[in-house]
Amino acid sequence: MTAPYGRVALIGLGLIASSMAHAIRAAGMATEIVGHAKSPETRAIARDLFCDRVCDTAAEAVQGADLVVLAVPVGAMAAIAAEIAPHLKPCATVTDVGSVKGAVVEAVGPHLPAGTHFIPGHPLAGTEYSGPRSGFATLFKNRWWLLTPLGDTDTAALARLRGFLEALGANVDEMEVERHDLVLAVVSHTPHLIAYTMVGVADHMRRVSQAEVIKYSASGFRDFTRIAASDPTMWRDVFLTNKDAVLDILGRFTEELFMLQRAIRMGDGQQLFDYFTRTRAIRRGIIEAGQDTAAPDFGRGADPVKG
Ligand code: NAP
Repeated sequence: MTAPYGRVALIGLGLIASSMAHAIRAAGMATEIVGHAKSPETRAIARDLFCDRVCDTAAEAVQGADLVVLAVPVGAMAAIAAEIAPHLKPCATVTDVGSVKGAVVEAVGPHLPAGTHFIPGHPLAGTEYSGPRSGFATLFKNRWWLLTPLGDTDTAALARLRGFLEALGANVDEMEVERHDLVLAVVSHTPHLIAYTMVGVADHMRRVSQAEVIKYSASGFRDFTRIAASDPTMWRDVFLTNKDAVLDILGRFTEELFMLQRAIRMGDGQQLFDYFTRTRAIRRGIIEAGQDTAAPDFGRGADPVKG
């Protein structure tokens, strides 16, 4: 079993960091958890609920830490990296949990001093809730945690981080930075944008048809609203920083949509049937891979959405 880190510093104390803190405690994977977040309110909650110590600045929080986790929105990573860089312990491991990897590597990498080990990461786990009260110890259980090590990554530091994340319940995989951003554009980012759009359309319709859209939302729409309730800051940053991959997938999506639109217009039932048969097989594959439940109604209430 991987040895626990001594001091772990969590920068940003929202859903992901608070879940990590609960999971680290449950697994006994650190001797001290130190935290920092922007607002005094969040810092006070974290002090009460899951941090051994909370600091007013990120610079203070990382001092003496063996592992530093950047768990802030992607757009906030560069300023935090610049602030903490002079205060990092030599040989500390620095990772992040940002939903986009290329932009984080660019924003964080140049600030970090030689001797520290920067290993970008991304847990494919989340819910539509945010903030320091939303975390829970089992969030990462049986979920993927992707690491995107850079060319010169120290293998011992990587193995240790990997073991630590596995102790939190995650299945760890490694991927190239660019590949990560393209894959996530397909499985997470573009679906979120579509959910936001669909809920926006319904909101517009609601004004036309009073409350009916909400009242009869039991079918697919309710799942869209759950995804579209995700944190606006986080998702703004995702789209601003994974622009190329999302625009690529969105272009492909639009082409398929036009194709289906045409099939509907032309009454081409065979084309629709074949298309839906293929997509149904993808759903079966996800269940077989253990990434969702086969319970009817999407196992509502039991399963997190991923970011
Ligand atoms: P969250 O619940 O909204 O929490 C964000 C935290 O970052 C808050 O504690 C916030 O502090 C803090 N913060 C923001 N700007 C800061 C700054 N300049 N300095 C210090 N602290 C700052 O977000 P989250 O869901 O945990 O997401 C965190 C990261 O994980 C994001 O990069 C996101 O892309 C990634 N991620 C999210 C999910 C998901 O489903 N939610 C999944 C995987 C990865 P205050 O509370 O004081 O504002």
